Amino acid sequence: DVITVGDLANRMAVRGVDIIKFLMRQGMMMKINDVIDSDTAELVADEYGMSVRRVSESDIETGFLAEADDADATTPRAPVVAVMGHVDHGKTSLLDALRTTDVAAAEAGGITQHIGAYQVRLKDGQRVTFLDTPGHAAFSAMRARGANVTDIVILVVAADDGVMPQTVEAIQHAKAAGAPLIVAVNKIDKPDANPQKVVNELLQHEVIAESLGGDTQVIEVSAKARTNLDGLLDAILLQAEVMDLRANPDRSAEGVVIEAKLDKGRGPVGTVLVKRGTLRRGDIVVAGSAWGKVRALLDERNAQLEEAGPAMPVEILGLDEPPSPGEVFAVVDSEARARELTEYRHRVKREKTQAAGGAVSLADMMAKLQTKKVNELPVVIKADVQGSAEAIVGSLDKMGNDEVRARTVYSGAGGITESDVNLAKSAGAPILGFNVRASKQARDLAEREGVEIRYYSIIYDLLDDMKGVLSGMLAPLQ
Ligand code: GDP
Repeated sequence: DVITVGDLANRMAVRGVDIIKFLMRQGMMMKINDVIDSDTAELVADEYGMSVRRVSESDIETGFLAEADDADATTPRAPVVAVMGHVDHGKTSLLDALRTTDVAAAEAGGITQHIGAYQVRLKDGQRVTFLDTPGHAAFSAMRARGANVTDIVILVVAADDGVMPQTVEAIQHAKAAGAPLIVAVNKIDKPDANPQKVVNELLQHEVIAESLGGDTQVIEVSAKARTNLDGLLDAILLQAEVMDLRANPDRSAEGVVIEAKLDKGRGPVGTVLVKRGTLRRGDIVVAGSAWGKVRALLDERNAQLEEAGPAMPVEILGLDEPPSPGEVFAVVDSEARARELTEYRHRVKREKTQAAGGAVSLADMMAKLQTKKVNELPVVIKADVQGSAEAIVGSLDKMGNDEVRARTVYSGAGGITESDVNLAKSAGAPILGFNVRASKQARDLAEREGVEIRYYSIIYDLLDDMKGVLSGMLAPLQ
């Protein structure tokens, strides 16, 4: 139960310096970023005729309540699955094919609208939820906001093409998210398909197929010919069973925004995935800095629902603005509470864009290393060629000592992309570019998210900077 002087000032909408002066008069010497305990916070609030309600930081920041579900209250839920892989390897085709495995798909009113996620119902009442947002950007945007919704990642690899750069990127994303992989070797209908080659190539990236004694299920499919979709679904259900996915449906709903748009006729529309609890029509929800009373719940069949439980994706109508994908939503008990939270978040947003708060920079990292808040320096490395990237990673691995060391979260060849920035943000890692530049979009995103990108053209300079950070002596950015 702690808060910084600055945060308290923000929430009370008073000047930080006034609080500092007040604390000084109480004999407490504090600076704006110092943390004070809840008793002191109460003292300050009293002075201003306000009262402090003790909510956890995570409540304010994300909308999630801090406490975990009571295990007794949980029931099994459907797995949430994301499909990732290299461009043109068949992600969209596979998602389209899986859509039709729904037992009701043949009936009128099968899946009719794209809402960013869909749930298929299988023969024996089992369900699987697929995130229908192929491409890694959405996945990493969610992760960057700390909203891990994906239980299982399906890695699509074309059997006629093998492991490609985005395949490797997807593996890194899944590993960073701690989500198990199931490999779908796609396009096995093609005459030049070579599934064994895929399995061998994956080995180099520490994805070891069951056939080679590892624990990754590899399923051969054809999205086009609809071959072995059942086998893939079985693999998902098996993996889900091992994970024992559960949630409490009997509580107020919380979840994550998958997609959002401003619809001409319907106003702001958000697709949310319920993580726990049950969302009902008429509930008051807060989603990031948006809020509203849920006017309607719609599923991917465009059917009106009364409620949506864990792992269900639904469109909600009634928000005051479209929320951002990856933002957390939660049901709150009153409009007043919803206003309080969203006003606070609007303010935080404004401040963040002004000050790039929560920045990920080498200087920040160094400060954290020095105060022993962390003992690792996570970095993302992008280089012009794979050989340089590997050389840099190799040298970084040897750096540091038992107390502090560098850790490469991701390394690869090519320009710095938005996906790199999102990955860096979620890992709290600065990006080091060697002989590469960042795209305009990546630069903008990095700026917004406060992720530092440093560029180098001499490996020695890069390594020198890292040594400096690890030893607490970083030369300022030129
Ligand atoms: P994405 O970029 O990963 O979403 O890939 P798409 O689903 O758009 O597929 C890329 C191309 O591969 C399209 O022309 C598809 O028709 C084709 N394709 C996808 N799956 C298969 C398959 O199983 N067999 C064959 N022969 N072609 C496929």
